[in-house]
Amino acid sequence: MPSPPQQRGIIVSKLYSEVDIYAEAERLYGVIQQRERWTIDMCKTIAPLTLEINDLKKKNDVFIIAHSYQTPDIIYGVADEVSDSYSLSKAARDASQQTILFSSVRFMAETAKIVSPHKTVLHPSPDAGCSLSDGINGQDVRNLKERYPNIPVACYINTTAEVKAECDVCVTSSNYLTICEKLPGEKLIFVPDKFMGKHLQKSLEGKKEVIVYDGECEVHAVFTGEKIRSWRERMNQQGIELTVLSHPECDIDVLEESDIVGSSEALIKNALQLSANGKKDIMLITECGTAERIIAESENDLNLIGACVMCRHMKKTQLEDILQALKNPMPEQIIEIDKNIIDKARMSLEEMFRLAE
Ligand code: SF4
Repeated sequence: MPSPPQQRGIIVSKLYSEVDIYAEAERLYGVIQQRERWTIDMCKTIAPLTLEINDLKKKNDVFIIAHSYQTPDIIYGVADEVSDSYSLSKAARDASQQTILFSSVRFMAETAKIVSPHKTVLHPSPDAGCSLSDGINGQDVRNLKERYPNIPVACYINTTAEVKAECDVCVTSSNYLTICEKLPGEKLIFVPDKFMGKHLQKSLEGKKEVIVYDGECEVHAVFTGEKIRSWRERMNQQGIELTVLSHPECDIDVLEESDIVGSSEALIKNALQLSANGKKDIMLITECGTAERIIAESENDLNLIGACVMCRHMKKTQLEDILQALKNPMPEQIIEIDKNIIDKARMSLEEMFRLAE
């Protein structure tokens, strides 16, 4: 099941009247769409926070970006743009505001800074990392390049600016297959996700050799093809036909058991389409935030089966952190990256935009 709402208790606001708070709670209750978990009383406890964040955001001309894995109070309460890595890196680049607040893990806020170096990028939770981006550094990539010289290096977007600066092209879960196929030569190095790497090896078999690093997403690594098979069997016995949707950060046996493999945005789009077509029994193999978005955005009958897994890094950010970073950011909440690294890392992202479009 998706993550439980954060209980705040009764917040007495000096800034907003009871009427304002009740109206905001009703708005939140309507948009979050999880009436049993996010009750009106629960929404009342966060309403003073969302009201103040939204006022400050307007006053200071700040654009708030949230990844789909953030909690619903952030996604539907205060974010201006919600999506997966690829769309968010474009949204950060194209935003007219001079300040971006990125509610997500560190590497995503760094990516926003790389594509918009002249803007101020705020990251409310500086210690929100990621098992993929924390598992590799620039020296690891330099070592690989020394061992396998003159081979293009593609890095997944879940990497630090320092790693992106060492690579030729960056890719995301929505474009890694097409971009890697377009790279010159018969070999390529892919970092850091070993599962996406294995998927690439399989899909480029006979065309290219793929040298893979040994990183993994701790969330998607826990799913297995065996679990999907046993769920399918049990559901079939009850006459239920499951459609299995999974994220490419999972191991290849999971992907082979799945009906649809795609980025978070693609999974949401497909789940909504399936439920609109009457195929309501869906098994979602990814982080819990994707399930929460599908529940909130579906207008049709939907039966999400199985258990999602929560990312402890993605759930570090709370509304309180966003409010504090907007009011008075600490130095570690303002993304600063060496100019040389920004320039080199931007080339790998620009190459991605060029090859993806
Ligand atoms: S879900 Fe996995 S890849 Fe995404 S931030 Fe968490 S650990 Fe990193």
